[in-house]
Amino acid sequence: MKLTRKEKSELIFEGFITVGLIYLLYLAVLIIFERFVYTSPDLVNNIWIFKNSFTIGERQVHSYKLIFVTLLVIVAMIVLFWRLKRRYKQMQLRHVISELHYIAEGHYDHRIPFELSGDMNKVIDSIHVLVDSTVSAMEEERKIEQSKDELITNVSHDIRTPLTSIIGYLGLIEDKQYQSQEELLKYTHTAYIKAKQMKILVEDLFEYTKVRQHTTPLNLTQFDMVKLLEQLAADFELDAKKKNMVIEVIQPDSEIMMEADTEKIVRVFNNLISNALKYGVGGKKITIEAQKVGKEVIISVSNDGPEIPEASLNQLFDRFYRVEESRSQETGGTGLGLAIAQSIVALHGGYIYAKSDKELTRFVLHLPLKQVQNSETK
Ligand code: ATP
Ligand code: MG
Repeated sequence: MKLTRKEKSELIFEGFITVGLIYLLYLAVLIIFERFVYTSPDLVNNIWIFKNSFTIGERQVHSYKLIFVTLLVIVAMIVLFWRLKRRYKQMQLRHVISELHYIAEGHYDHRIPFELSGDMNKVIDSIHVLVDSTVSAMEEERKIEQSKDELITNVSHDIRTPLTSIIGYLGLIEDKQYQSQEELLKYTHTAYIKAKQMKILVEDLFEYTKVRQHTTPLNLTQFDMVKLLEQLAADFELDAKKKNMVIEVIQPDSEIMMEADTEKIVRVFNNLISNALKYGVGGKKITIEAQKVGKEVIISVSNDGPEIPEASLNQLFDRFYRVEESRSQETGGTGLGLAIAQSIVALHGGYIYAKSDKELTRFVLHLPLKQVQNSETK
């Protein structure tokens, strides 16, 4: 730490004052002692007897005096050192406080630029750690705020689009701008479809916000994952047939008993399989494979069809993200399915990722066989 000119002169002044005070103190003690000795003849006698009995000569008296004076000088130096050190520490503290004021004024990337010794340095280190964690908490807060704004923008957009159609078609009916009963039915049907779309969006959003919370309770049950996957494949068989696709479940040798919230897990696979049907355009086959590895089950849902570009792979699980820019009516999802799936898998202590090449697009899930029981998951 660099002292300012004023501080240096303060220290020198403190030194002079201390030396002066010690000198005055010694002088006062000496005068009092001399007065005391000369006003008590008994004491002078005793000193004389003491000197004689120990045969203390003038030379010895001289060396005792020397030792005594040296001791006094040492004591004076210790006091001087202690006073100067104390003052120096006060100055250090002043510097630290002014640096803290500077940081508190909003210069959060500023760091106290000097190193001090001992505990003071520990205090500075702790201050730096505190500032860092405060800054990262603020950054986190800002990101959450930003992501909430994005959520509101996306939701408003996704609700406004079908709502505009609904109002448009209902407006036509209200103004009797239809030629026939058939046209009227067409308008009401479109409004109905759009209203259903909105309902799905609202439900998905509700589900998304629910599973995003780490405290969401899981309704855990024991079940055989192989059976569940077979059931799911059977449920989608008809949809697959319509698209000239087949769903195949590759079974392991034995059952895979595991513990999870089946309703939520089914939601994950519903989305993965319906995605494979929706986006695996031109593909022929959807393959679901499950295997037990150690304490987890690894399940993959793959489909042949168009490749997902490398750049999109990481964003697939972001809410509202859809690979194709246009939110086409035909495949028109909300872009929440994979975000919900990821949150559900995370709630179970697992993870999910996607891989894609020219031949296959594959979603891989890792789920623990058993759930760790705690107060948050029951
Ligand atoms: P939602 O599931 O909410 O109805 P969505 O299907 O559009 O809507 P996600 O399931 O999150 O949303 O999928 C996000 C995007 O990832 C999709 O829009 C699609 O572009 C891409 N995608 C997902 N699965 C596949 C797949 N098997 N093959 C190719 N693209 C896929
Ligand atoms: Mg989907």
